[in-house]
Amino acid sequence: MVKVVISGIMGRMGRTIARLAYEDPEVQIAGGVESPDCVHFHENVKDILNKEDVDAPITADLSKIIERADVIIDFAGSTEAVLGHVRLAAADQNRKCMVIGTTGFSDEELEEIRQLSKDIPIVLAPNMSIGVNLLFKLVEDAAKALKDKGFDIEVVEMHHRYKKDSPSGTAVKIVDILKEATGIQKVIYGREGIYENGRPSDEIAVFALRGGDVVGEHTVIFAGLGERIELTHRAGSRDIFAKGAVEAAKWIKDKPPGLYDMMDVLGLK
Ligand code: NAD
Repeated sequence: MVKVVISGIMGRMGRTIARLAYEDPEVQIAGGVESPDCVHFHENVKDILNKEDVDAPITADLSKIIERADVIIDFAGSTEAVLGHVRLAAADQNRKCMVIGTTGFSDEELEEIRQLSKDIPIVLAPNMSIGVNLLFKLVEDAAKALKDKGFDIEVVEMHHRYKKDSPSGTAVKIVDILKEATGIQKVIYGREGIYENGRPSDEIAVFALRGGDVVGEHTVIFAGLGERIELTHRAGSRDIFAKGAVEAAKWIKDKPPGLYDMMDVLGLK
């Protein structure tokens, strides 16, 4: 049995994770963390789930309930808040693990998470679905195979109108994979202006579309002369990410300190 505290519990992802964690016999919801500014703030997870057999306090301050948790699943809508939680978990006398789904960290914040993962096990993954993690692998294989063969690479993503960060954490990860596989270092976000000599071959362009209630879509286009390959993942429901987060919490409980990603959890490496 793994005891989880869910941070950002009133959010779109937090609520979905709470529902799936409740349904999983190997998981016990020990508490929730939520911003006091949240207009729908509830004091107990049972009020979110409408389940009388749950008794798990919700607080704005993780330090008040951290002793109840084996693993903190963090999908808080603030990278600063998540970093505060990682610091708290790393400083705790008892071994605490973290599963971080929040995206939009700065390079400095990522470096601090990397440092803190020397003390505690952390899964950090901008996308916890099995399909997207397979997409990462397919993109890497395709990019390596097509390297220096005259294919232009463009990345397109689309998300719902409320998404805070842009481009998505998943698109950023795809770009990192493409850079590593192709050696191309120049990345541009959107395209404007005049291209007298056509599209430069030594750049990757990323386009972030926003609108409606789109859960998340990512396409990597490899465009050559006379043929085009497109690798696409479309998320139809947030359950795929939440399921991954719950699986990651079960997986990480017995792991040594270190920084892991979803490819580790899913055995795709
Ligand atoms: P959301 O805005 O619906 O939810 C975020 C929640 O965090 C809100 O309830 C907000 O009040 C709360 N929050 C804000 N400050 C907080 C604090 N200091 N402490 C605790 N809670 C706090 O957003 P969402 O759609 O649920 O997404 C949350 C994050 O997860 C985003 O960064 C998003 O990009 C990311 N995401 C990751 C995956 C993945 O698979 N890794 C999938 C979907 C979304």
